[in-house]
Amino acid sequence: MLAILVFFFIHWFFSLFFHSFFLHRFASHKMYLMSKNWERTFYILTWLAQGSSFLVPRAYGVMHRMHHVYSDTEKDPHSPHFFKDVYQMMRSTILIFRSFLTGKNIPDPQFTQEYLPVWDNLDRFGHHALTRLFFMASYTSFYLLFAPNFWFYLLLPIHFLMGPIQGAIVNWCGHKYGYSNFNNGDFSKNTTPWGILLMGELFQNNHHYDKESANFAQKWYEFDLTYQIMRAFNKVGIIQIIEEQVIAVEEVRIAKAA
Ligand SMILES: [Zn+2]
Ligand SMILES: [Zn+2]
Repeated sequence: MLAILVFFFIHWFFSLFFHSFFLHRFASHKMYLMSKNWERTFYILTWLAQGSSFLVPRAYGVMHRMHHVYSDTEKDPHSPHFFKDVYQMMRSTILIFRSFLTGKNIPDPQFTQEYLPVWDNLDRFGHHALTRLFFMASYTSFYLLFAPNFWFYLLLPIHFLMGPIQGAIVNWCGHKYGYSNFNNGDFSKNTTPWGILLMGELFQNNHHYDKESANFAQKWYEFDLTYQIMRAFNKVGIIQIIEEQVIAVEEVRIAKAA
């Protein structure tokens, strides 16, 4: 039983971290800079972490940028206020996501102007049905080896759809339940204490207020785990958080002026 629980939590947090760190904060918002080699490394790790539910970064980025511009209006690709349940919202989101990938839906240029990470070969390979099936078979094999009884197999669909499930929790709860620090003109909320389990992503109200800010936590009692890891990466030189660079330049300017 322990092996299954450890596997579940590792997969949950590994997938969530790269979802938050790479797909959301880099592919969609470009909150930090990094070398091309690090970008490729994190690209591969995002694919491995999400496995069967790999979300192709360029389609994710476009859809997420739309979400910010049209937040909680009819044009928002996944506002909980326009769907009767989470399943309908997820279904619609997946259809829009696919239509961007197949080229059936050409996004408005305002959503593609800013840099979007693209790696054609990996995108094609990771999105291929056989690759997704391979990951699903791997998760199932692990359960066949270690699950103590049938009930544990009920966790398998969460492994299969990990990326979209985590996205659906954030989009549904983060625009429906919790408190607001700011009036953003939408329904974005900070859904604590569940925010801890979603690594900062459930501070939607803070994030919609200032989408450039790498730190989603604004009050002393809020904690954004992804941002803390980003700070560590920033410190050792793996990434350069743009916001911190601006602050550093400003500090030098003030010091010089004094
Ligand atoms: Zn965002
Ligand atoms: Zn949102």
